[in-house]
Amino acid sequence: MPINTFKIQLNGRVQGVGFRPFVYNLAIKNNLTGSVSNNSKGVIIYTSTTHEKANAFLQDIISQKPKVAIITAHTIEKIALQEFTNFSIALSDKKEQISIPLTPDFGVCKHCKQEINDVNNRRYKYAFTTCVHCGPRYAITQKFPFDRANTSLANFAMCKQCRAEYNNPTNRRFHSQTNSCVNCGITLQLINNKGVAVENNQQEILNKAADLISKGKIIALKNTSGYLLCCDASNTKTVQQLRARKQRPNKPFAVLYPSISKVKNDFNLSVEEENALNSTIAPIVILQNTKYLSIKTEAIAPNLNQTGVMLPSSSLLELLMQKLANPIIATSGNIHGSPIISDNKEAEEELRQVADYFLHHNLGITFPQDDSVIKFVDNTQIILRRSRGFAPNYLENTAQNKNPIWAMGAHLKSTFTMVPNAHIYVSQYFGNLDSYEVLNRFKTTLAHYQSLFSTTPSTIIIDKHPQYQSSITGHELKEKWDAHLVEVQHHKAHFASVLGEHNLFNSAQKILGVIWDGTGLGEDTHIWGGEFFTYQNKTISRLCYFDYFDWIANDKMAKEPRLSLYSLLNEDDRVLIKAKFFAEEWKIYEQSIKTNTLKTSSVGRLFDAVASALDIVDTNSYEAEAAMLLENCASKANKNDCIDLLEHKTYDNIPSKLLISIILKTYKEGVSKSIIAHSFIFTMAKIIIGIALKNNIKTIACSGGVFQNSLLINWLKRLSKNTKLELKLNVNLSPNDENISFGQLMYHQHINN
Ligand SMILES: [Zn+2]
Ligand SMILES: [Zn+2]
Repeated sequence: MPINTFKIQLNGRVQGVGFRPFVYNLAIKNNLTGSVSNNSKGVIIYTSTTHEKANAFLQDIISQKPKVAIITAHTIEKIALQEFTNFSIALSDKKEQISIPLTPDFGVCKHCKQEINDVNNRRYKYAFTTCVHCGPRYAITQKFPFDRANTSLANFAMCKQCRAEYNNPTNRRFHSQTNSCVNCGITLQLINNKGVAVENNQQEILNKAADLISKGKIIALKNTSGYLLCCDASNTKTVQQLRARKQRPNKPFAVLYPSISKVKNDFNLSVEEENALNSTIAPIVILQNTKYLSIKTEAIAPNLNQTGVMLPSSSLLELLMQKLANPIIATSGNIHGSPIISDNKEAEEELRQVADYFLHHNLGITFPQDDSVIKFVDNTQIILRRSRGFAPNYLENTAQNKNPIWAMGAHLKSTFTMVPNAHIYVSQYFGNLDSYEVLNRFKTTLAHYQSLFSTTPSTIIIDKHPQYQSSITGHELKEKWDAHLVEVQHHKAHFASVLGEHNLFNSAQKILGVIWDGTGLGEDTHIWGGEFFTYQNKTISRLCYFDYFDWIANDKMAKEPRLSLYSLLNEDDRVLIKAKFFAEEWKIYEQSIKTNTLKTSSVGRLFDAVASALDIVDTNSYEAEAAMLLENCASKANKNDCIDLLEHKTYDNIPSKLLISIILKTYKEGVSKSIIAHSFIFTMAKIIIGIALKNNIKTIACSGGVFQNSLLINWLKRLSKNTKLELKLNVNLSPNDENISFGQLMYHQHINN
């Protein structure tokens, strides 16, 4: 057998995941000589051996790769013969332009968990224990490639023992860039909100913190991705105190459980839910409450029958939770819709009124992130907030045009999408850009990506809405970088996001786009939000929509469901809800509706109107409260206890006002709220199916915040089950406005304007 040198290139998520040590050990096992190193595209391997052995080696790499690695492409080629005396890990070539994905943070692995619990292990109780399989990545990345010197760990020199692990090919921490231990690593600090240390012994700090939590205190704890506000989830008084201090009367809090077995004591988990909780993403998973809960759900998620649950994502949280008898609240450390805080000083300044104590550490955080939130409808995953563990890398850029593009996204659930190289990066969720601090975080993260990838945009894409802060920022950046500026309509971007996620742009068949959300500026200057589009031959056309109704009182309309109800009722029916308003208010609205010219087709507002019609909620205390409470109410009805409120009729445009008047009438006749709420959601699903059938379209793509509704998805799945209809939803992105930036990019790359 002739010996040749083979060059193997692997692309994808292959850096910062223990890939080189894995390849090294596999080569040693197979008696191969050569080298492995990181390069601009991923990992490159050279080996001199026979054709058969080189190919077998590649197959082994693919089939046995580290759990968190993702190989998106691989090549093998024969090159000029080189002689190697052994197999080695070579230094990275830093001169080439970088084209590898940023790696998200990984939840603590089972081996590290074992070690921190083992009295005889040298990492016993060390809160920042990590290995090649777990620990922060994106959160601490300052530069490429992912080498220690380019991360926040650069400030910590490895001790002799850690260094030995790092250099030992048979060790799990071989080339682990986040390697540290109690002798050389990150230190904790526990102070009260006056700045006075309450425990100085590193070994005792977590005991003390746990003790304080169990005594009803609120602690601002710095996790490896940012601060969390923590308190006992079984202590109603403390939870309410946290609500009062955070000025957050009703919005649900997430609960951190110590172990999967404790979660199982409280909830009935599906296989998907259990896998998600245990995954390296370690997200918050929304679970259905049972009767046997150990936590105070009425204080944690008022009026809802679901709870957001997670497991420890870091060694720090793992160690803390073992010392506590009860699950704890763990909510993002911020105030009034500001972004999550990650700086020690800022935390003390901003959270002093909320937290009794601060549990700091001295590891810097480059990219702070909230915890991600997901839920399941049967086995379908729906992402509600895409952040730690998911963000930022997303997929390969398959478009022909390789110019650097920045898409600026929406306004309320902002993200940006950047194409600096062969990859498309969708940033983590930032939040509402009305907040100065959120806008600031959005801009600094953009600037950080810009320097990280040494890229400047040739094209900037913005939403059509000129007052979105993302649009304003886009204009500023266009001037700064002398870039080309493109506008994409909001709901068309939503549609393009699903088409892009499912690679449907080359589909020969017509596709129905059902885009339902709160607001977005339409092409006719009205506010869209209940849209039906078609896609065919690189063109998106508006097919029909929910009949327009008046958009009144500007931003107030989204906050007060009673205003949507008011607007959706005819003059004669409006008297029925007069009691929901003060006399003065009533007069003002009766006047303003006469002269109002701004219209909307928003399905988000339609849901609000139904919630108000059924006396569920008239004024939201947090965003989307009405929609959540309505779904909650509907879910109390029996599975088949519903009727089609539009009596199976089809319409050119959907009669929004007729639907609301039927709902109000049925309610006044004494039919139960839950049956009406359920019927409304069932009717909405029937409308979608009806439009698809009427237009003879087989594929239905749904996007927009309304599709976070589990019951709606459930009904769509049930109704399309024995038909030829195919349902497409957002998969790796949230259906809400977080997907707009990606949709803008997809629209720009694939749709003819
Ligand atoms: Zn580990
Ligand atoms: Zn050490």
